[in-house]
Amino acid sequence: AVFSSLSDRLQDTFDKLRGKGKLTEDDINSAMREIRLALLEADVNYRVVRDFVAKTKEKCLDAEVLESLNPTQNVVRIVLEQLTELLGETESALELAPHRSPNVIMLVGLQGSGKTTAASKLAYLLKGKRKKPLLAACDTHRPAAADQLETLGAEVGVEVYRGDGKDAVRVARESVDVAREHGCDVVIVDTAGRLQIDEEMMQEAVDIKRAVDPDQILMVVDAMGGQDIVNVVSEFSARVDFDGVIMSKLDGDARGGGALSVRAVTGKPIKFASMGEKPDSLEVFNPDRMAKRILGMGDMYGIIEQAEKLSSEKDLADAERMLMQGFTMDDMLAQMRNIRKMGGVQKVLGMLPGMERAVQKQGATVDDSQMVAIEAMIHSMTKKERQDPTIIDGKRRRRIAQGSGHTPQEVNQLYKQWEQMEKMMGSVRGLINQGNTRKTAR
Ligand code: GDP
Repeated sequence: AVFSSLSDRLQDTFDKLRGKGKLTEDDINSAMREIRLALLEADVNYRVVRDFVAKTKEKCLDAEVLESLNPTQNVVRIVLEQLTELLGETESALELAPHRSPNVIMLVGLQGSGKTTAASKLAYLLKGKRKKPLLAACDTHRPAAADQLETLGAEVGVEVYRGDGKDAVRVARESVDVAREHGCDVVIVDTAGRLQIDEEMMQEAVDIKRAVDPDQILMVVDAMGGQDIVNVVSEFSARVDFDGVIMSKLDGDARGGGALSVRAVTGKPIKFASMGEKPDSLEVFNPDRMAKRILGMGDMYGIIEQAEKLSSEKDLADAERMLMQGFTMDDMLAQMRNIRKMGGVQKVLGMLPGMERAVQKQGATVDDSQMVAIEAMIHSMTKKERQDPTIIDGKRRRRIAQGSGHTPQEVNQLYKQWEQMEKMMGSVRGLINQGNTRKTAR
């Protein structure tokens, strides 16, 4: 995932410091050198890196930090704070004027940045907030753009206005009237992009802006772009001006430098992050969570949010209990049934950077026939065995096998699977506890 190599390198740096116990000025200096290199390698803008490292170093060299009981923990805390600040400190809400209907959100960006996809995802997100959005197809230059928007709109159940498909400014203006007629309270205007900045595109964006007076202009930025995007973003900022960024393709294998540079270079907040191609993969961008994820502290909120998609209170309570107390065979069965709903164990555990590799290796998926077998075996266990599978010895294994019509080897395999999942849960538990000690150490 994005940031994974940065994440690895920063965590290596901290591990080295942890190994030392007491820290000297030299230790801090060499850690800062490593952080500097890691950021440069992630393609963060060099000026941003320079300022980041200077500030972080100054804070770390504070006598109170060096002489504290656990200096490394303090260094980690300082880096976390600086990283959070770099990403924008707090969530930055979508600001819509309360008494205006419809509100207008205009999207700008380069071609291929993910604008059209983002428009539909944003519509989906707003729909979830009980809004009634209308999508306006104002990319009249790319012939297939309106069709694409229409397909995506249909997918999320949102109406698309195409107008004459020629005059972008006119389509934009008309879409506001259509929204009013159809009782829509938000119009999302998708505009044309180009492969590079070009004068005509900029002028068109400026004209649309003038015609519809948007409440929010969001620039869609491809996270794969690295720090080159900084120039593009600055250009848009100077010509069209915008309120915030939608960072797209954060699920890709990018180094993430662009995402880490954009705020510092342009002063514009990242408002949303897009992590996939599905309609529900747009998230409100949360700097603190992202910074924690980069530092390997785990994105517990992400996991819980993902779990919330399971939609019942009971499921949520189960997830919490499973994490904090223990993982039974019954949990495993429920988990496996939920795998599809949650988008796969991989996705959920992948939110924990330290876990990513482990999950990939294991390939945690199940097919339907495996599911039937697992169910049969777990149902052949006694309540006690399901609560605490470690009591399953050879004799119990044979009984379960016989009862379920499977072999003792298969029962053993199931046990191994349970053991591995329990181990993963254990590491999550560890991460949470680690996070808690950090909080209390403050
Ligand atoms: P536009 O030219 O700016 O409108 O870009 P599109 O919306 O057509 O997106 C370009 C490509 O990027 C499409 O194939 C999208 O499916 C893909 N895409 C957009 N956002 C994301 C994302 O967050 N993650 C991934 N993996 N792909 C994305």
